[in-house]
Amino acid sequence: MAGPAVYCSCAPNTYMVLRMSYQHLLAELDLGFTRLRNRVVMGSMHTGMEDRFWNYPKLAAYFRERAKGGVGLIVTGGISPNREGWLLPFGGTLNSVLDLRNHRKLTEAVHAEGGKIALQILHAGRYGYQPFVVSASAIKSPISKFKPRALSIAGIAKTVRDYARCARLAQRAGYDGIEIMGSEGYLLNQFLCPRTNRRTDAYGGSIENRMRLAREIVERVRAVCGERFIVVYRISLIDLVEGGNTWDETVQVAQALEAAGVTMFNTGIGWHEARVPTIVTSVPRAAFAALSARLKAAVKVPVIVSNRINTPDVAEALLAQGAGDLVSMARPLLADPEFVVKTAEGRTHEINTCIACNQACLDHTFKNQRATCLVNPRAGRETELIYRPVAGTRAARSIAVVGAGPAGLSAATVAAARGHRVTLFDASATIGGQFNLAMRVPGKEEFSETIRYFQSQLQRHRVDVRLDTRVDPALLAAGAYDDVIIATGIVPRRPAIAGIDGPNVLSYVDVLRGAPVGQRVAVIGAGGIGFDVSEFLLHRAGEPLPMPRDAWLDEWGVDLAVRERGGLKPPAPAQPPRQIWLLQRKAGKLGMGLGKTSGWVHRATLARNGVKMLDGVSYREISARGLKIAREGVEQWLEVDTIVVCAGQESLRDLHPQTAADAKVRKADQGNGPRYHVIGGAKVATELDAKRAIREGAEVAAAL
Ligand code: FAD
Ligand code: NAP
Ligand code: SF4
Repeated sequence: MAGPAVYCSCAPNTYMVLRMSYQHLLAELDLGFTRLRNRVVMGSMHTGMEDRFWNYPKLAAYFRERAKGGVGLIVTGGISPNREGWLLPFGGTLNSVLDLRNHRKLTEAVHAEGGKIALQILHAGRYGYQPFVVSASAIKSPISKFKPRALSIAGIAKTVRDYARCARLAQRAGYDGIEIMGSEGYLLNQFLCPRTNRRTDAYGGSIENRMRLAREIVERVRAVCGERFIVVYRISLIDLVEGGNTWDETVQVAQALEAAGVTMFNTGIGWHEARVPTIVTSVPRAAFAALSARLKAAVKVPVIVSNRINTPDVAEALLAQGAGDLVSMARPLLADPEFVVKTAEGRTHEINTCIACNQACLDHTFKNQRATCLVNPRAGRETELIYRPVAGTRAARSIAVVGAGPAGLSAATVAAARGHRVTLFDASATIGGQFNLAMRVPGKEEFSETIRYFQSQLQRHRVDVRLDTRVDPALLAAGAYDDVIIATGIVPRRPAIAGIDGPNVLSYVDVLRGAPVGQRVAVIGAGGIGFDVSEFLLHRAGEPLPMPRDAWLDEWGVDLAVRERGGLKPPAPAQPPRQIWLLQRKAGKLGMGLGKTSGWVHRATLARNGVKMLDGVSYREISARGLKIAREGVEQWLEVDTIVVCAGQESLRDLHPQTAADAKVRKADQGNGPRYHVIGGAKVATELDAKRAIREGAEVAAAL
């Protein structure tokens, strides 16, 4: 294995390593015919831009920033080798020389920054959301409405040829290699596992037969692309579905594919239809890395470790412990394109850490929207959201930002980074606004990373931060600012229910700050905060947070030894510390407004802990007896000790002249007063989330 890399700032597109503490992560990897400058792989992430040729210049800019930031190897989002493999109608496909021009935009952008890039070939199989879907057998998946056609022998031969053609075209487009997507339940996984492969021909039955398609593809790709081309195979280490493979079968597959010509193995965890979360924020960091270590012991080629790795420290520790040879991070590179260069320069405290919320990346992908990032609204919008430095000190404006929640922090740091003079006020003693409450929710501890990141940026860009300062119009007037950005957030809504002011009623703010709560609890409001507060109340005093890996694996029924097919075992029964009723007025399943990729995890967690989720509720009154509700015309008392109100919020923007009740404040806006801007919760409280708050802050600051 190569020693630690020392990059020199005197050469273009390189950087000086100031600290050597990440020696494994920053070490070069010599593959014989080519070298990777470090061990960081930007894992494949579908952005939506791959699917339309007119978005390739934007995609090139997105990859260029990550290559410039020092990533060793970039893997593109999934590109299909043929029409049957489309994930969505007219999804990104590489099957013609006519496609080369677009793909060269990507490879040239990455190579110009000294990086390397591999094209991911993804055949969705039965996960395709389109009518041409094929699979090993004609078995519909639970996550697509289209029933697949079983591939014929001739269809299989054509599929192999299509993969090889796609790989060869990738090589001609300038890619340094390809990644064959063989995990997450896509086509090759469907052939590999008895769950979806009921064939009785040479491609079904024994594991030798079930892996035949994958092996033929690797052999053919190697044959047409030659030895000096990176061929990564993404292998499923644990399927997390019934009828998945056993560990012995996985090792057999890996060894056969290694012999067929794989350069490296990337690792995948769980099928998309699995009912075990694998990447949301409540999954412990590096929860599945032990499996990569086992694979590494079974093969000779390098292994890429993946899943819930989002800091250089975790990545370095995994490599140092031998869990893999490289580390794949997809979302962390969306969150911070400079992840590697900051690591190399000893500026890890400045990394904008991915908090695994999925809100702006995967949830967007599932809604057919372009992927971006909650903590980095520039991701995927590099050519659109540009933070131009202000031209000289005379152009710099004096800006007051009121409120140091996500919206205000985003505005203050972007404005200051551009060269404006920024003063940031907050009434409380700390920055972060509601993120200080969010990070107290079990499984959301990582929200503190965003506060840490913003803290580093305030210091770096010399923002004048004034905490414990409640801003009023007089203070703003005294500052004679050019611009005032109102980012004062929200106040929790207090619904008009008889008895709402009683001693047994608490707001979510009280609860998350530690107010005593009884054994039987009714939660009014089942939005994101109602769910979070319920999970907070299910936490047993004294149990460590974040949840240790083994406890988490037991709770979700995961056996890392993969003794049974798919690596599932009976989940450990939960012992809820409280009885909770979670209530909403509207009819329908609770939590429908939560993200596609995380809502089901929250619902499953509450259901397992015996939380009673009631819809169609009318609130009648509150008394010492509890909460009286009506459902379908029938009244009943929920005999609870505490009622927690999570009924949404209302904007707080008294400081804005147009909303101020005070005539003096209105007057202050006349004449040559400052320009006012309102962002985040202060602007609109309904359906507010941190994604919008941070984006609005960045956009207003970019435009000043
Ligand atoms: P806030 O965060 O409310 O910040 C406003 C700031 O202004 C506060 O710090 C306040 O002290 C300050 N302020 C107010 N008035 C004044 C004044 N006159 N002078 C000085 N300072 C003042 N969002 C997500 O996207 N995903 C999640 O998973 C998520 N989970 C959450 C979990 C919980 C428990 C909570 C409470 C919220 C969660 N949110 C989540 C919502 C998210 O935190 C908010 O959308 C976001 O904080 C709004 O940002 P903001 O800057 O507009 O307002
Ligand atoms: P929310 O999502 O708007 O939910 C408010 C809840 O209160 C709803 O269940 C609503 O449903 C109920 N409600 C509204 N008015 C009411 C009234 N007058 N009386 C009784 N009930 C009322 O707001 P939130 O839960 O406070 O969350 C705030 C924001 O934070 C959300 O927009 C969300 O995006 C974000 N957040 C996100 C996550 C996440 O995991 N992604 C987590 C936490 C917070 P009914 O009207 O049907 O009763
Ligand atoms: Fe990470 Fe959330 Fe950004 Fe996705 S949106 S990259 S999960 S921080």
